[in-house]
Amino acid sequence: MRFFVLTIFPQFFEGFKNTGIVSRGIKKGKISIETINLRDFTDDKHRTVDDVVYGGGPGMLLKPEPIYRAYESILERGHKPYVLITEPWGRKFDQKFARELSEKQEIMIICGRYEGVDERVKDIVDEEISIGDFVLSGGEPAAIVIMDAVSRLVPGVVGDKDSIRVDSFSDGLLGYPNYTRPSDFRGKKVPDVLKSGNHRLINLWRRWKQIEKTLERRPELLEKANLTKEDISILDAIKSGESFENFVKKLK
Ligand code: SAH
Repeated sequence: MRFFVLTIFPQFFEGFKNTGIVSRGIKKGKISIETINLRDFTDDKHRTVDDVVYGGGPGMLLKPEPIYRAYESILERGHKPYVLITEPWGRKFDQKFARELSEKQEIMIICGRYEGVDERVKDIVDEEISIGDFVLSGGEPAAIVIMDAVSRLVPGVVGDKDSIRVDSFSDGLLGYPNYTRPSDFRGKKVPDVLKSGNHRLINLWRRWKQIEKTLERRPELLEKANLTKEDISILDAIKSGESFENFVKKLK
């Protein structure tokens, strides 16, 4: 997966590129992130990337010319990226969108600034993308969110394949709670079932917790999730106020 990021603040991405899973993914050659400074594609002495808004109104806009020229320089090098622009009114980013993007080979992300970007840039854009209903001062934090979530899904980036499989949203449900040592922390104890060594029971408990949490916090996700017959019996038990222990007893 090759990312190209068009930005007026390339330094914004240094910490991101050099940290954790993304940094390892880059070292392993599974992903690359190339930041492209829009100021390198201006032709005036002041390297101007912005200008006033036609029709009046506050603030400045990113000019189309440097963005087109930066994009064309990528094409000239033989790449054909899928083009995203960060916009608060874009398609809402979620795990499904991340999965779709992870299937692409090359992605270019245009980061807006100021009041945004000249509308004519839309002609080179495949999709407008928003990370939520709030307004950022620039597309850079959004680009980082997008690249982080997509990189995790690129094969070989996250070491343990299973850790993606059990992530929240991977099967339409929220994740289950986890514990590490010590087993008794200031009187707060790790649930016995997790220390039982009984994997069938542990999996059942985790599924129960996933369904319980999703029902409590994001019930709309349950409607779209692919629930098995067992999931549905768990859901019914939770809804009728049954305890996990009781549910397990009945299974025997
Ligand atoms: N004038 C715009 C806001 C501009 S904010 C409006 O009316 O909505 C400046 C830039 O930040 C935008 O061009 C966009 O690139 C980025 N941005 C702001 N909020 C965002 C969000 N929720 N998701 C993705 N990008 C966002």
